[in-house]
Amino acid sequence: MKTYHSTRNLHNQASFHEAVLQGIASDGGLFVKDDIAKDKIDLATLLHASYQEMAIAVLSKFLDDFSNEQIEQCVYNAYTTNFDTAEITPLVKVGKHHVLELFHGPTCAFKDIALQILPQFMQTALQMEPNHKDIVILTATSGDTGKAALEGFKDVDKIKIIVFYPYQLVSEMQERQMITTTGKNTAVISLHGNFDDCQRIVKQAFANNELVNELNNMNYQFSSANSINIGRLCPQITYYFYSYMQLVKNNEIQLYDKVNFVIPTGNFGNILAGYYAKLLGLPIHKLICASNSNHILTDFISTGIYDRNRNLEKTISPSMDILISSNLERLLYELHPNTEDIAKWMKQLNENGRYEIPQELLDKIQDIFYCGYANDDECKQTINYNYEANNYVMDTHTSCAAKVLEDYLKDTNDTHKSIILSTASCYKFSKDVLSALDDQPYPSEWEYMNKLQQVSKQPISENLSKLKEMPILHHNQTTKEDAFDTILSIIKEKF
Ligand SMILES: *Cc1c(COP(=O)(O)O)cnc(C)c1O
Repeated sequence: MKTYHSTRNLHNQASFHEAVLQGIASDGGLFVKDDIAKDKIDLATLLHASYQEMAIAVLSKFLDDFSNEQIEQCVYNAYTTNFDTAEITPLVKVGKHHVLELFHGPTCAFKDIALQILPQFMQTALQMEPNHKDIVILTATSGDTGKAALEGFKDVDKIKIIVFYPYQLVSEMQERQMITTTGKNTAVISLHGNFDDCQRIVKQAFANNELVNELNNMNYQFSSANSINIGRLCPQITYYFYSYMQLVKNNEIQLYDKVNFVIPTGNFGNILAGYYAKLLGLPIHKLICASNSNHILTDFISTGIYDRNRNLEKTISPSMDILISSNLERLLYELHPNTEDIAKWMKQLNENGRYEIPQELLDKIQDIFYCGYANDDECKQTINYNYEANNYVMDTHTSCAAKVLEDYLKDTNDTHKSIILSTASCYKFSKDVLSALDDQPYPSEWEYMNKLQQVSKQPISENLSKLKEMPILHHNQTTKEDAFDTILSIIKEKF
């Protein structure tokens, strides 16, 4: 059942399990599935469902070549003991709004929701193809994906993982999380460049025939754990349904009332999962796209012009320091299913760093999405405000979303209920979060973390506090020019 195809060519097709193993289509496009909106989820059946049951309902719409038993096994393996709360993604009331805490997994960022289950999908896919080569996952990270992918794939049979992160451009805690990773099949490389360079190298590696052939000869095939992999996206749809149902159960809304979701956005994966939830029948009024000072998406959604000819700024929300939001390509296809146009725009982006969409497509986007951004000072003010007014400490990414929501409400007077997606624990960014509450300097990241705990009174995950004692196991650095050689030498020498 080849129900998926590339955004750039209808004839470049794959089944779900093939799409998961390939990661990205051979023409550089992303795998999409047509007609998601045709087969809606009946909301009433979810009222009394657990998180796991909702995940099964959502995933059944996408994993069309997996059996029910296989889907259930993936879900229960991923979402039973690996999160620190049985709810998986608890919804917390903060002032007038609701915060959906997506950071209760092993690495304290929302990436865990998808990266705890993606290895299950890959293993199931490999079982369906017993003669398949072993997989080398190549991953680019702006900080959080890397560790979440390493944790998910660590010691998984027949799969190796190599992570590239931008040298000195991730938080101290994010770096420490990655370079202390155990597991015989893991490698971590600090690249002298920014996140977009990391992402470009990964995409180029997939498309480089010489490298791919060399891998083939060693009996390996590349795949991706970034949100360009469809297996990363579909698990993220579940928590949109889950949080909506929590509002219904708490009598905050009636079933079928519309709500807003506000999403701190980088690669456009999380918010695209929200759009897929809407296609599947979730009553969403607006999807609010929040950016930081790298507001390329705000500019795009306001003008229809995507222009990456600008400098990437380092901000206190590093997981959103991105100029190429890969998953936007899937949204464009969804709203304008013309693969030739998509291929043309992506070629223009690649060659000139810029493309422009027609007005009629921009109108459709603006009908569904609102957009805005917050700079570092505004993020800190928002952290401070929510602590003073609501006794809640949020991280630097979540505070971008909270600020953009305030702007949206002032701008529109909208009265729908709003859910803010909280994408990381405040302790992953202790120094910057604390600086919003207390101006004093402390000697190390660990002291910032302890001090922040005294202020916030929220427990520190043991997964973060134990890092201080863990040995550093990864020391690789490379340049853009040497990146492919580094990949090969790791495969030859370490794996
Ligand atoms: C990855 C990440 C984001 C951005 O999510 P996308 O799916 O890339 O848009 C936001 N916040 C945090 C903390 C993240 O780790």
